[in-house]
Amino acid sequence: MPWHMRRVTIFLAVAAIGLTFGLVVGASPSRAAGSYDGSYAGTISWQASDGSSGSLSFTFGITDGRFSADVGVPVFGNVHLDGSVDAGGLVTGGGSYGCTFSIKLTLSGAQVTGAGSFASCTADGGEAHGSIVNVRRTSAPPAATTPSAPKAPHPEVNAQLPCQGVGYYSYSPRGGSACDVKWATPQFLAALNSIIATWYALHPDVPLGIGDMSKQGGTPPPCNKAPCHKAHQKGGDADIRPIRTDKGGEGVSYKSKAYDLELTRDLVGVILNAPAPTGCKLNVIFNDPRIKLNGVRRDPKDKKTGKQLHIHDDHLHVMFVGSQCLTG
Ligand SMILES: [Zn+2]
Repeated sequence: MPWHMRRVTIFLAVAAIGLTFGLVVGASPSRAAGSYDGSYAGTISWQASDGSSGSLSFTFGITDGRFSADVGVPVFGNVHLDGSVDAGGLVTGGGSYGCTFSIKLTLSGAQVTGAGSFASCTADGGEAHGSIVNVRRTSAPPAATTPSAPKAPHPEVNAQLPCQGVGYYSYSPRGGSACDVKWATPQFLAALNSIIATWYALHPDVPLGIGDMSKQGGTPPPCNKAPCHKAHQKGGDADIRPIRTDKGGEGVSYKSKAYDLELTRDLVGVILNAPAPTGCKLNVIFNDPRIKLNGVRRDPKDKKTGKQLHIHDDHLHVMFVGSQCLTG
């Protein structure tokens, strides 16, 4: 076999084994490497000590971050997290030739560069050196995918109570902006507005503290402080503070001296009597056992510990109940 013919054979063998070495040793699979998916082509130029020179084309493909090339034999591997592909090794054979080589490719989105010496071969007393002179994509890079906004789980939660208004103020017990968690279905907001207006007509000097309702579109409300809401996602809930004897804008537990039982009982009455759509009615969860009205519930016992829960000691959870209205 003439030298230059053998040389091409050597290059192909080197490429196959070299890529196998490098990819098996150094690489770890990566999802990010999926951005390099595509087909590539490269060129290696070589010069031999006898003065001859030439070039050799090679191709490879990357699918899902997995590298494969066909350089006479199939080779597989993974692309590094940073997009680099390293290969190196040594091949000898026939007693009269041997090659050492290293390959480094750098892939970055649509940009692909190849670098590094490719091979140094000796055969028949001569030497040949090669280097990668270019690598390019032969297919378009995958389209960048921008994550689409999460779909609103409850698009009907689209009516907002202004953060401040006549007869009420906003508070945020569990973190986040009090104003962000002021959404409801139009039907529930109508009922809540009726409660606020009725209360204001009766007690214009006692503004209601309105806490969490729902987030727009029914995504879960933020929670930096337990207990977090299980409800408040379908636009049919609002938390309202009990009334204080000083009529101030602070929270209060029904067990506190600052708690005004009479006014709070009045408030619960206003809530239960507010107009609701056909098939819906308003209920309240509040733990003061002295308020005995149809439609008022207490916290249940904890299912795991059997202990009485005290979530609704300091706020009235106002909600729609009924098969015709969204709840929870
Ligand atoms: Zn609540």
